[in-house]
Amino acid sequence: MGISSKLGNLGVVTTTLDQAINWGRNGAMWPLLFGLACCAIEYMATQASTYDLSRFGMELNRASPRQADLLIVSGRLTRKMAPVIRQLYDQMAAPKWVISMGDCASCGGVYNNYALVQGVDEIIPVDVYVAGCPPRPEQLLHGIMTLHEKIKGDSIRDWAAPVVADPIRI
Ligand code: SF4
Repeated sequence: MGISSKLGNLGVVTTTLDQAINWGRNGAMWPLLFGLACCAIEYMATQASTYDLSRFGMELNRASPRQADLLIVSGRLTRKMAPVIRQLYDQMAAPKWVISMGDCASCGGVYNNYALVQGVDEIIPVDVYVAGCPPRPEQLLHGIMTLHEKIKGDSIRDWAAPVVADPIRI
């Protein structure tokens, strides 16, 4: 401001409330500190200096679900772990989003057996699926940017609706 306001340039920006809120949400997601199997190693690599998730305002992985709004399911989900991930999701702050990272999380991958959930979307709603075994950090980054694009289309009116928890199907 300062000198520009004296010159008559007030620097006024107009936008909608939805766009302003979505801009803030996109730029400050807090992922939950969470990993299930080998895909989590790629997730850690994405967070590290070479790929640097901090560029997206995601430098903090929160150790508490109450301080997180993004769950990246990185790895195969066992039936024993399914109630735990459901509880973590339920405890996260709303609005919240889920990325299913890797084939195991998305559809069971090569593990078509009784011990594994054949897709995390049987337990919690998923916003973006990232294919691969394991997906490279670039693929996870693409998934995160895809989620950003999805959020840009959100409206605060949608979030006013009550959230009804889906039952666990295991
Ligand atoms: S998709 Fe591949 S890398 Fe990821 S958890 Fe499954 S087996 Fe491991």
